[in-house]
Amino acid sequence: MRFKTFFQSTFLFIFLYSCGQKQQADLLVFNATIYTLDSAFSTAEAMVISNGKILETGDRRELQKKYNPTEKLDAQGKFIYPGFIDAHAHFFNYGLGLQTADLNGTKSWNEVIELLREFGTKNPEGWLIGRGWDQNDWTNKNFPENSKLNELFPDRPVILTRVDGHALIANEIALNLAGIKAGDNLTGGEIEVNNGKLTGILIDNAQNLVSNQIPIPDSMQIRKALINAQANCFAVGLTTVDDCGLNYENALQIHDAHKSGDLKMRIYVMLSDSPKNYEWVIKKGKMKTERLNVRSFKVYADGALGSRGACLLQPYSDKKNWSGFLLSSPGHFDSVASIIESQDFQMCTHAIGDSANRTILNTYARILKGKNDKRWRIEHAQVVNKNDFDMFGRFSIIPSVQPTHATSDMYWAGDRLGKEREKGAYAFNDLLKQNGWIPLGTDFPVEDISPFKTFFAAVVRKDAKGIPANGYQMNNALSRQDALRGMTIWAARSNFEENEKGSLESGKFADFVLLDKDLMTVSENEILNTQVMMTFLNGEKVFDHK
Ligand SMILES: [Zn+2]
Repeated sequence: MRFKTFFQSTFLFIFLYSCGQKQQADLLVFNATIYTLDSAFSTAEAMVISNGKILETGDRRELQKKYNPTEKLDAQGKFIYPGFIDAHAHFFNYGLGLQTADLNGTKSWNEVIELLREFGTKNPEGWLIGRGWDQNDWTNKNFPENSKLNELFPDRPVILTRVDGHALIANEIALNLAGIKAGDNLTGGEIEVNNGKLTGILIDNAQNLVSNQIPIPDSMQIRKALINAQANCFAVGLTTVDDCGLNYENALQIHDAHKSGDLKMRIYVMLSDSPKNYEWVIKKGKMKTERLNVRSFKVYADGALGSRGACLLQPYSDKKNWSGFLLSSPGHFDSVASIIESQDFQMCTHAIGDSANRTILNTYARILKGKNDKRWRIEHAQVVNKNDFDMFGRFSIIPSVQPTHATSDMYWAGDRLGKEREKGAYAFNDLLKQNGWIPLGTDFPVEDISPFKTFFAAVVRKDAKGIPANGYQMNNALSRQDALRGMTIWAARSNFEENEKGSLESGKFADFVLLDKDLMTVSENEILNTQVMMTFLNGEKVFDHK
């Protein structure tokens, strides 16, 4: 009987407590379909938030019995997802790029000049830098000459890089600062001259002569870059980005911007493969705050497939006797892997070609030895030999892939690789099967920042123009659920952050997006029209579409 009495009084106590004292909370969100991204992929109608964290998800009435929220948000029947995480991007450089003129799509040299004049007025200080012109798109298909630039900007250095990055045009003052004279020669580059005068066109290695003169961005420019980048990211629902390859000084600049409150975006920094970064890590170890996590290195194994810099096991199908090359010796990869292992850091290596992937898989395997939880990543894992896929599973190596690369490259990937090899390229579903999870990203600014383009490319394997009609290598499409996991909880896991973000569960950060469409059910051709209505980070509204 004593048990019964005890039970009754306990029950009474809970009853009184729940009626009398509601728990204070900051925000109740209700009237939503909340995709929690918990392990059961369950949904909820409401959630309660306090101090930047989720207290509970569930039914509105139940939650209102327990909590007394200061604010309420009626989601008006719309759809909520965890804030998107881009597992592979270049946030810092993207931000700096926003301070340069975008010349993509210009139809004539005159249009370039007009655009630049406007840009120069809005951005009155320092070098004028632009990128993206392509004389093949113009009526006059010759390289331009710099006379107009000299006239308009006599005191301000200008350099405008061609769309492919293999040529640029500089004005007179920029050429003077670099000490370039008509008739100068150098290996691996060309300085164009017409009637004995410099035209301003510099090709390949000659570009470095002027680009080396550009002053490194000052702290104001960096702060502005970070703020601009985050504004664009919040508008598309990103609340965490992985910045793949920064120096430790950049990580410290990000930390300062966080402390000042200017920068709110959560950033997972991979440090670049350079001696000073290793020295810094050996001295300082990991760095972790609620918004910054530095515990990994980014290493490059090879180049890109488009420019035939990716390292292949067999020659390119469209270039005889050419297989690309590794950017460092296998010995270098082994030695940095040992340093990274000794500091308990994560190694993330860019590998595009099947030979680069095999080299890195073997390097990792020697250190990792078997199944493990070190989550060493291969960035892109773009072309994998069919005999090598199982190494990802055997050594718990995480492929970190970018679905929009597949739909950007599909136009020429078959030319480079041939039909047979192409089957092992952009093989996201085959890679997913290896460990049962896969993080997704964009590689922006190489691709667009939009997570919806990632989702679309992953699920329907078409580009934004809807090409190809039946999807590209559809056997490697991801399900909608898996694509969403790849942009949230699996991306968090690839950063060792799955206990703090990536799903909307009790105790995790209140990082979430409110969308006007349901990504799980919206028709295929509506996916790219999805609008972010609001973005919340740490319980704070950081974007409102209005
Ligand atoms: Zn990248």
